[in-house]
Amino acid sequence: MPEPQRRTHPPPAGRDEPEVRFDQLPLHPSLHAGAREMGYESATPIQSRAIPEAVLGRDLVATAQTGTGKTAAFLLPILERTLDLPPGRIYALVLTPTRELALQAEEFLAKLGRYTRRRGVAVYGGVGYDAQIRAVRGGAEIVVATPGRLLDLMEQGHLDWKDLKILVLDEADRMLDMGFLPDVRRVLKALPRERQTMLFSATMPPAVVELAREFLRSPRMVHVDPTTVAAVGVSHLALPVPAHLKAELLRELLLDATMTSVLVFTRTKHRANRLAQQLTRWSIPAGVIHGNRSQSQRLKALEGFRGGDHRVLVATDIAARGIDVEGVSHVVNFDVPHEAEVYVHRVGRTARAQARGDAYTLVSPDEDADFGRIERLLGFPIPRAKIPGFAYDAAAPPRPPSAPGRPGGHGRHGGRGDHGGRFGRGARRDGDDRRRGRRGYGPRRPDRSQGRP
Ligand code: AMP
Repeated sequence: MPEPQRRTHPPPAGRDEPEVRFDQLPLHPSLHAGAREMGYESATPIQSRAIPEAVLGRDLVATAQTGTGKTAAFLLPILERTLDLPPGRIYALVLTPTRELALQAEEFLAKLGRYTRRRGVAVYGGVGYDAQIRAVRGGAEIVVATPGRLLDLMEQGHLDWKDLKILVLDEADRMLDMGFLPDVRRVLKALPRERQTMLFSATMPPAVVELAREFLRSPRMVHVDPTTVAAVGVSHLALPVPAHLKAELLRELLLDATMTSVLVFTRTKHRANRLAQQLTRWSIPAGVIHGNRSQSQRLKALEGFRGGDHRVLVATDIAARGIDVEGVSHVVNFDVPHEAEVYVHRVGRTARAQARGDAYTLVSPDEDADFGRIERLLGFPIPRAKIPGFAYDAAAPPRPPSAPGRPGGHGRHGGRGDHGGRFGRGARRDGDDRRRGRRGYGPRRPDRSQGRP
């Protein structure tokens, strides 16, 4: 897959914070070696704040979502604190809401801990039991698990918690949203009380605060402002469009050859399916992941996306949690999320850590109010753009307005990036008719040097 084009952006928000070099963090040289191989040079804010506290064994509540470097912020202290302990006993448990997150954490653990003797195992549902039981029984010291399958294995007597020293609750808000509270409680009650507990959550709704109060002891609070995170490296752009023309507009956007790896979010599974089918009919290969797809279908879609077989992955929010794909060049919100925080989660998929990315949101008139709430949460207005020449007044197709697009369309465009996109030929922001793109037919994308708030 070609490298996403690197662009010059304004310095990230949060730049006033002193930069902490990764090698300044209080970690064993073997862990620094692992992190170096992952390419970590400077610590992200959550890492520079959480790691020094966590390595001392303190309980911790951290507000940070995917994309902030939070996984390393809890895995490295786990490795640091268990480095010298005898092998073959379970010292740490990380509870995550989804199998994708569990797999991602296990993968990071293997990489960050490659110069240690610690082994991890991922325990999650939707696949056979045997391999997981073998790995657990084979002496992995760090278990990363979703609550349901973990309870199954616990009930079957495969897990011995008596040496457990560290518990991490990852994405606690999502875990509760997904109805895992009873399972989480049951797991927690089976663990030794004498332990370090770290809770990571993107948001702090009352149920999460309550959970922290019940199960953590005098935790340190580490807060990474979601508005800062959303602003880091992400250029936001809103594209007003009638609801029935969203699929056509997306097709226009995808003519931009720099959109090399595009994660598209829809509100429902149905809309995700319909959109992926429509794109495929237009010769734009697209994968799709949502809650109704089997584990193997999801993995196949993810692999195809990672490997560049299809540059578009259509996803619903829950399915997309925990997806880690290097170099997502763009996030497209095909539908405006009802909750403003979800927007921050979604755009966190691009601009991963220090990388850069773009977030486009297709806003139909009935989504204006939801979009306004997002702008209020971010604390700045998101610029609007129109694609010159796009038929904004095209008639609604003869099918229900909830459908993502219509088959056929104007049929002028083939596959990926083989035509000039419309932005570069003079994309305009509403209320500002100056040309935004470079002159001529060069770039196929909006020029953000002026378009950014
Ligand atoms: P996370 O928020 O844990 O999902 O991590 C987001 C992405 O950022 C992952 O691809 C990490 O490997 C990457 N990452 C984490 N910490 C750093 C760092 N200090 N420097 C560069 N990339 C990082």
